[in-house]
Amino acid sequence: MSDQPVLEVRDLSVAYGYGPDAARAVSEVTFSLGRSKVLGVAGESGSGKSTLVYGLTRLLRAPGVITGGDVLFHVPGENTHTVDVLSAGEEEIQRLRWAHVSIVLQSALSALNPVRRIGREIDEVLRVHRSEMGKAERRARAEELLALVGLPADRLKRFPHELSGGQRQRVMIALALALSPELIVMDEPTTALDVVTQREIVSELYELRQKLGFAMIFITHDLSLLVELADEIMVMYAGRIVERAPALELYRAPRHPYTLGLMESFPPLHGERVEMTGIPGSPPDLRDLPAGCAFAPRCAYAMDKCQTENPALSAIEGGHRSVACWLHAKGHSAPVELSRRFVPAGGEL
Ligand code: SF4
Repeated sequence: MSDQPVLEVRDLSVAYGYGPDAARAVSEVTFSLGRSKVLGVAGESGSGKSTLVYGLTRLLRAPGVITGGDVLFHVPGENTHTVDVLSAGEEEIQRLRWAHVSIVLQSALSALNPVRRIGREIDEVLRVHRSEMGKAERRARAEELLALVGLPADRLKRFPHELSGGQRQRVMIALALALSPELIVMDEPTTALDVVTQREIVSELYELRQKLGFAMIFITHDLSLLVELADEIMVMYAGRIVERAPALELYRAPRHPYTLGLMESFPPLHGERVEMTGIPGSPPDLRDLPAGCAFAPRCAYAMDKCQTENPALSAIEGGHRSVACWLHAKGHSAPVELSRRFVPAGGEL
């Protein structure tokens, strides 16, 4: 049981709208997440990473519609059971949210009620989901939660507008931790914050995960944030997974041209200053995806085959990482920047 994943997602597809004009935002995404593991999901805006999260947590709103797949959440403990998330009733989903799965969204300012003090916001979650707790116990738990995210207890008396952006996001993390869930989903939780606060929050999340043992899905467009936090990284483009690998390996030696482009869009954490080149062009129209590889119009390595055939996500290098790119198919040889050997652990980043 202990090595059973907390979450299994199989062939999940999500579209916006119906018929030939539907935008295929997520296509046949499959992954599983182990207990206490952190999966980073990276990609530009429109890559499908947020839609994936809304789909698998049943938070998708019309015109978003799940067009296929399965999402299984394995609830641990004495009453161990599996929730089929996509077919479960609303009551079961409500029980699952907060208690087992919680979600931190990008904008803490709009997620928090502006006319409610922070203390009341936390108290409300505890009161609804932990009816056995008395008022004093809830107050003590609220203080404990703020301490976990590095905020003093007097912040319980404040309104959201009286806190900085970083403090508000810490309150959201405290709320997500309130019921000790097994999985926390973070959708770009640090995007609206300055770089220093981003790094502080990521370090705190890393420590909290070590201490409390929850699993996490962390979504961002900044790959460099994930290398410190994630066990594994999944890169999405045009609604598909194009590369998946252990975090450090992917960061040190990307195999997909899009991953390489993402890495060249952000300054490195260590080493010399380098010029940021970014990725030319823009993501494709999800209502009219090309017949071949969706990245072909922006890819410096595109071949004839790339224009007509879409590469499947395939295992490479002994199966511990995978990539969807013809450069790594049998009979092709990848360019040196996408085939260099992995630097062994212990080397500098
Ligand atoms: Fe580039 Fe072709 Fe690989 Fe797509 S399949 S990323 S176009 S080389």
